[in-house]
Amino acid sequence: MRYPKLRELKEAVKALIKGPYTIKYPYQPAKTYERFRGRPYFHEEECIGCTACAQVCPSKAIEVKDTVAGAKGKRKLTVHWDICIFCGQCQANCPTGKGIVLSREFEFATTEKREALKQEIEKEFVLCECCQEPVAPYDQYVWTAKRLGPLCFSNSSLVLFYLRLLNFASKAKSPPKKEEEISRAERIRVLCPRCRRQAVIKS
Ligand code: SF4
Ligand code: SF4
Repeated sequence: MRYPKLRELKEAVKALIKGPYTIKYPYQPAKTYERFRGRPYFHEEECIGCTACAQVCPSKAIEVKDTVAGAKGKRKLTVHWDICIFCGQCQANCPTGKGIVLSREFEFATTEKREALKQEIEKEFVLCECCQEPVAPYDQYVWTAKRLGPLCFSNSSLVLFYLRLLNFASKAKSPPKKEEEISRAERIRVLCPRCRRQAVIKS
């Protein structure tokens, strides 16, 4: 019985010198630790729009919306903080490692509607030069081509896209074609997998 009492006394003296363990939150800012999992943020310049984060998100807090209007296509990625459970799966599975990163923010109280608790980013699509369907986000194509290096020569669309990026090839001038009009010549174009298959079958 004697030793526990001494231990308590030691703790009491320590607390007197160091001060209380608790803080006066919300009157003082709360300290979060380095590995604290708070509000996730997209980092637009690092995100390639691949949607891996949306696929692994257990609470479906990341929404993906693809739209094509005329010769332009966009992918909108939205992270809904009101649904997020701060598991960190999005960050852990992001291929660039920095496209979405959890911050140490945890305060969500707002006078706005809960729908306002979100962040949106947009990525431009590379469209198929025959059917105008989205092939992949532009940034994802650039990232993949750079990662593959000389290996991207195994994919005609990817290598053509990369050569254009380096100004070693010009953009196709002929108008988009329907699936039944696709000929052998269309192989030298940036195509979606379906049109590429048609072009290969006809060659
Ligand atoms: S790059 Fe990362 S943040 Fe962007 S869509 Fe892919 S997984 Fe999500
Ligand atoms: S932290 Fe978890 S729940 Fe929140 S967006 Fe990322 S994967 Fe989804």
